[in-house]
Amino acid sequence: MIIMLMRVLKATKTLVLPILKTHSHERIPMKGLIDQLIKIVGKDNLLTQREDMVTYSYDAAVLDPVVPHAVVMPENSEQLGQIVKVCSTHRVAMTVRGSGTNLSGGTIPSNTSGVVVLTGKLNKILEINEADMYAVVQPGVVTATLAAAVEKKGLFYPPDPGSQAVSTLGGNVAENAGGLRGLKYGVTKDYVMGLSFFDSMGEHVKSGSRTVKCATGYNLTGLMVGSEGTLGVIDEIILKLIPLPKARKSMVAVYKTIKQASETVAAIIADRIVPATLELLDNFTIRAVESYSKAGLPVDAGALLLIEVDGHPGQVEEDGRRVEEICRETGAQSVKVATDDAERDRIWAARRSALSALAKLKPTLVLEDATVPRSKIPAMVKSLQEISKKYDISIGTFGHAGDGNLHPTILTDKRNKAEWHRVEQAIEEIFDRALELGGTLSGEHGTGLAKAPFLEKETGRSAILFSRRLRKAMDPYNILNPGKITGVI
Ligand SMILES: Cc1cc2nc3c(=O)[nH]c(=O)nc-3n(C[C@H](O)[C@H](O)[C@H](O)COP(=O)(O)OP(=O)(O)OC[C@H]3O[C@@H](n4cnc5c(N)ncnc54)[C@H](O)[C@@H]3O)c2cc1C
Repeated sequence: MIIMLMRVLKATKTLVLPILKTHSHERIPMKGLIDQLIKIVGKDNLLTQREDMVTYSYDAAVLDPVVPHAVVMPENSEQLGQIVKVCSTHRVAMTVRGSGTNLSGGTIPSNTSGVVVLTGKLNKILEINEADMYAVVQPGVVTATLAAAVEKKGLFYPPDPGSQAVSTLGGNVAENAGGLRGLKYGVTKDYVMGLSFFDSMGEHVKSGSRTVKCATGYNLTGLMVGSEGTLGVIDEIILKLIPLPKARKSMVAVYKTIKQASETVAAIIADRIVPATLELLDNFTIRAVESYSKAGLPVDAGALLLIEVDGHPGQVEEDGRRVEEICRETGAQSVKVATDDAERDRIWAARRSALSALAKLKPTLVLEDATVPRSKIPAMVKSLQEISKKYDISIGTFGHAGDGNLHPTILTDKRNKAEWHRVEQAIEEIFDRALELGGTLSGEHGTGLAKAPFLEKETGRSAILFSRRLRKAMDPYNILNPGKITGVI
């Protein structure tokens, strides 16, 4: 057996060697790696103690943690480029990490000899250009920080993941994050005009421009958006800004059943009204949120729709009135319109607390984001209820119903093996149902490690093989966040 293993290892080595020979760098032992990283960032910006690094061994996905070999915190682009070069030289896997809030395992280190690169100190807003309406940022800028900075100038950066108070723009771009305003304003990809990144060899690559239009070369910007740290390390992003809407109206519609609420979503869209936000909360989630945030939500409601229309004041008045009418026509027991900013803020703070509120109920929370065409929301809601019953598990449902992007949230305890097995079956059935309805496995949380095993169900084999070839071409040593999206390449 041992001899056989040695033969396999030997064979593997001869397969790998020709590739390594094409690269001028020598393989240097790990000690050399740490010394070189310290030279680049200084001792204070490098963690190697196990107790420090445990924090960077997991993210918001329910997956096993992996403690990395080192955590490094560059303070500028130059240092970031040098780090990539050193990792390339050592053939060391690198996982870039913003705030680690992703829900698909994208920042779980690939192996224990890997390095985590934290972008937290690359947190400068480099430019806000009011005349041409764009911003240039480093990847570690927190999403809400940019939104607040541009709002002061009458500008608007719409993508607003529920995690915007902590998530970074680098993480948003790498995940193509969505949020509560996707229905009217789209998602992160719709706002990335250009970016620069370090490729797997540490070469600096620029793509896109500061112009509204740009048709030169390949759309490398599009390739990088949603690439989850597997194709390059982003160091600068140019983001489109738009004028801040002049008026907003938020309301809460209360329903006896989730069926009525989900039918209202389809009815509003069919009426050719596009609210900025159209969120659904089922009774399970309402109760969790109310006990967590004391926002005054009606705990007896079967479901709630939280709706915001925005734009020109006249249009907001008209759309607001019509949305209210539709809600009542489709069975709303009441529709409460926020009368001031404080009330509006309370509504949205309650919605944004949904995940934290549910997380308090059980030791393990699995939040999915399988998405369906929005007209299929009532069918998806029905399927979720059936799946919950079939596998005897608790599923709270909330999310961006206007985009067809619900968040079925399974509450469980991973230590209960029998229940966990049923949860895994339920997750697969949720994916299957979304695909049958013409949907996708992930509307916004990305593939990471969590959905990699299921990707082929949606894309087919040839898309996976093409992606692996693309990846090999861009990262021949497989050092950029290995294992994510395409699995082993
Ligand atoms: C409470 C809560 C609510 C959420 N709500 C939403 C929501 O409404 N919509 C939504 O889309 N998501 C949501 N998320 C998921 C998550 O916040 C997003 O995926 C977010 O974009 C991750 O940002 P981050 O800074 O935490 O990135 P991380 O989790 O640190 O990283 C995410 C991915 O990006 C890569 N990456 C990070 N920086 C770079 C870089 N500079 N270059 C290359 N790759 C990089 C990482 O390697 C990883 O693969 C939520 C999460 C939580 C916990």
